[in-house]
Amino acid sequence: MFNLILFGPPGSGKGTQSENVVKTYRLQHISTGDLLRDEVTRHTPLGVEAKKYMDQGLLVPDEVVIGMISSKIDELPDARGFIFDGFPRTKAQAEALDKLLEFKNTSINLVLSLEVPEQQLIDRLVGRGATSGRSDDNAEVITKRIKEYHTKTAAVASHYAEQGKLERVKGDNSIEDTFRLLAKQIDKYLLPA
Ligand code: AMP
Repeated sequence: MFNLILFGPPGSGKGTQSENVVKTYRLQHISTGDLLRDEVTRHTPLGVEAKKYMDQGLLVPDEVVIGMISSKIDELPDARGFIFDGFPRTKAQAEALDKLLEFKNTSINLVLSLEVPEQQLIDRLVGRGATSGRSDDNAEVITKRIKEYHTKTAAVASHYAEQGKLERVKGDNSIEDTFRLLAKQIDKYLLPA
């Protein structure tokens, strides 16, 4: 199994690049943002609770997200590997993920961190807000989401850097250029499927 975390701040291109990685390497994509938005749309109890945080640009509590990930992994026993997008977002989530994977006799192989200057992140997210229909893609909430990234999520990079698994990739060029850089790293571990 090959397990990859695509890491980076909001607007760094994780969702777009995950699609490219999935197509090329046939990994199972797990995006906690997508899973949470699906719960919100279906008005499940989890979705109703999560929406309160998402609309304010705050992270949803760890136990909610970890439970959701755990069931998702269990639903996909035959996966060639996973690409985690937008998860883990806190050190506690990273530790929980490491334990969940260890229980399955596997682990995270690689963490690719997309590096994009802050002003470019804001411009991209504001631009996306015009068409995404996402209630959290507006200037005020975007600022809060980036703040949550710095105070809570950046620690995830250090967690995996200590394990020697973190690679930083420039994410400020075109989608194609960035994907080439990501693929160069993944190719060291896994051949395209
Ligand atoms: P995203 O689509 O990854 O930008 O996530 C949108 C929103 O969903 C975030 O601003 C959080 O409120 C929530 N969210 C997504 N993933 C997580 C996570 N791993 N932990 C906590 N909250 C999350």
